[in-house]
Amino acid sequence: MMLAHQISVGNELLLGDTINTNASWISQRLSEHGIRCVHVATVPDDKPAILSALAHSMRDADVTILTGGLGPTHDDITKTCLCEYFNARLVCHKPTLDRIQRMFEARGIPFSPSNTAQADVPEHCDVLFNSQGTAPGMWFAEKGKVLIVLPGVPREMKHLMTDEVLPRLRAMVGASKLNKDYLQLTGIGESTLSDLVIGDVSSYLKPGIELAYLPHAHGITLRITSFNGLVEDAARLKSHILSAAGPYVYSELPDVDLEQVVVQLASEKKVSIATAESCTGGWISNLITNVPGSSTMFKGSIVAYHNSVKQHLLDVPESVLMEYGAVSKQVALIMAKSAASKLGADIGISTTGIAGPDGGTEAKPVGLVWIGFWSRDTHFAVYARFFRDRILNKERTAKVALEIIRRQMLGIPGLPFDLKPESA
Ligand code: ATP
Ligand code: MG
Repeated sequence: MMLAHQISVGNELLLGDTINTNASWISQRLSEHGIRCVHVATVPDDKPAILSALAHSMRDADVTILTGGLGPTHDDITKTCLCEYFNARLVCHKPTLDRIQRMFEARGIPFSPSNTAQADVPEHCDVLFNSQGTAPGMWFAEKGKVLIVLPGVPREMKHLMTDEVLPRLRAMVGASKLNKDYLQLTGIGESTLSDLVIGDVSSYLKPGIELAYLPHAHGITLRITSFNGLVEDAARLKSHILSAAGPYVYSELPDVDLEQVVVQLASEKKVSIATAESCTGGWISNLITNVPGSSTMFKGSIVAYHNSVKQHLLDVPESVLMEYGAVSKQVALIMAKSAASKLGADIGISTTGIAGPDGGTEAKPVGLVWIGFWSRDTHFAVYARFFRDRILNKERTAKVALEIIRRQMLGIPGLPFDLKPESA
């Protein structure tokens, strides 16, 4: 396996003014080509720092990619460092100089000495012709190692990587490739998933196969990477996970959201959905309507924030509100049923809760949410306990509601986070 290092040069990266998007973009491309990036060093525009990063990477990596500091201004010193590192002189790269001169002529801009310097490169390097800017890229080969130097401007870096660097790297690596498999899960915590559901997978792992848990606000993405023709081993690991954790998996694609899955399922099954939202304030409706094609299955939402709206638009009797309070199983159940009946949908889903950060009581603490579900076959409400963060509570509630709908449509037993259904 070919190992790569990256060196990102630039004071602005260390000051935090510029996000190092080059490094993540390059790492993605390398991994797609079966080259593993194992180290990224971000260093200032400073000679000792650049030289020491170069020495480290040229010792430990097969391929080093350095970006930044190639510009014409005094703070760009990467080329000076390269000359010192390789004990080389700067020589003029005539095709680049001609091109820069023509570019300036065409634009009617005066040509200055620092523009000439842009065409200078350390001797013995292969020049990577930059058609998008003035600073050429450089390819150095030394003792079986490769150093690639690219401008820091992301657009120019991407152009040189795509058109010059990756084709050459591809030829060096041959057919070996990195495969990535994804499973997206929701409705379960990371530690429960790993300890109790999936369990020990060490017998499925070997050098070249890895399983990564990538938790995020809405669930957990599992990524299985496999290098160098270990696709069958990866498939075995994936099918083990699917048989252990299948009910939690909502997608096998990395970039599909839960709401997309719900919209697609409902459209296929010709099931229409409506929402009655109090604490989520229309968030579920927003997520669903973000998905193209949701008009085929989504009827609409009643955002019943104030009790008077729960009463007048959703037929929640005043007596029920008085007796149980707005955040209650009884209210959630009526809201879900009314959403379905008033909006003419097969499924009604409702939310009512205490989003926070204030307004909780001992009996009804901040983060307490009731979610109601109604369809002709079944109706229930569940309560969940979330956090103190208002926005996070709205977001979580909306995702749990969507997951309840997904499971109901697919007939998957059990509810997300092991929530217990309660009926009237
Ligand atoms: P040029 O010769 O075109 O000036 P350069 O190699 O000198 O290129 P820099 O001066 O280091 O590049 O950076 C140019 C621009 O690119 C700056 O706006 C900088 O913030 C941005 N940039 C540099 N490095 C990165 C990086 N790693 N990720 C994202 N942006 C970057
Ligand atoms: Mg710079």
